[in-house]
Amino acid sequence: MSRATFAEIAAALESAQEILVASHLRPDGDALGSTLAFTLWLRSLGKRVTAWNQDGVTRNFRYLPGHELITTPESTPRAFDVVVALDTSVKNRLGTVLESVAAAGLLINIDHHVSNEAFGDLSYIDPSAPATGQILCEFFQDRGVALTPEIATNLFAAVSTDTGSFQYSGTNARTFDAASRLVAAGVNVAELSGAMYESQPRRRLDLLRHALNEAKFSCDGHLASFSLSLATVEQLGVHPEDNEGIIDHLRSVEGVVSAVFFEELPEGRVRVSARSKDPRVDVCEICGQFGGGGHPLAAGARIKGSLAEVEEKFLGAVCHEIRNRN
Ligand code: AMP
Ligand code: MN
Ligand code: MN
Repeated sequence: MSRATFAEIAAALESAQEILVASHLRPDGDALGSTLAFTLWLRSLGKRVTAWNQDGVTRNFRYLPGHELITTPESTPRAFDVVVALDTSVKNRLGTVLESVAAAGLLINIDHHVSNEAFGDLSYIDPSAPATGQILCEFFQDRGVALTPEIATNLFAAVSTDTGSFQYSGTNARTFDAASRLVAAGVNVAELSGAMYESQPRRRLDLLRHALNEAKFSCDGHLASFSLSLATVEQLGVHPEDNEGIIDHLRSVEGVVSAVFFEELPEGRVRVSARSKDPRVDVCEICGQFGGGGHPLAAGARIKGSLAEVEEKFLGAVCHEIRNRN
């Protein structure tokens, strides 16, 4: 484990020719925006760059400039001088990407998850940044890189989505500094925000209607949860990316300290998405007890068991933390 500087990371990239840029599976705006921003920059330096994500670009991110550059693990295994992992807290969240790589010279890990164990040969982990995209803005500023509108747009999308439009804790003066530089570099804020937040598929509204009907409040009203079964997914025809943000509606309720979303997965496991509004209820730590991780106020895990079993165990653990706040 090492703590690398921006200069060391830039030097490693400059001496490389063949580079792979990857981010976590079930990608969010930070994962894809960061991947594309870094890829576009490295290509502008004349590098051969492969941008890769286990799940590719889900439909809700097809407005990101350069999104067609992102490939999935079916592509031919190749040898890379450098592999860059972005926004990925643990190696296995990259999916099968690394297994498909014939040889990886050096692994660079740039991330903002507090639970990141700095798994790269060169790691730059900054949990004070609310998005990996903000770290990349600071990297580019440090290296004197002039941002194209395409790079800036990807970084703005990364920061905007991971901060809930500049609202969540972790959003700080540096975030607005970065955003200001990005807008100066040519981001069309209204157009991008329209694509990010005002272009939801109707399916998502169907899912939200269902979620609001089925939402459960427990732990004296401090805990809100919603479970999505495979049967409902089939019935409503929802896509995995439609789930994004549903949990925010549960969290937004007065008195709710923590919101949890359970999604039944085909392989006998449940994907858990947890949020907290109180730093004394650290959902990263709770998810860690179940093999997951993330941030103190936004975390996740994939847990073996049926929906009912996982729900009971996980909600029990969260309610325990809520009751033991001091
Ligand atoms: P999500 O609830 O999927 O939006 O994820 C919230 C945060 O938790 C993100 O920063 C994820 O990277 C992290 N996270 C989600 N699922 C997992 C997991 N299975 N293991 C580790 N971290 C996770
Ligand atoms: Mn992410
Ligand atoms: Mn992130």
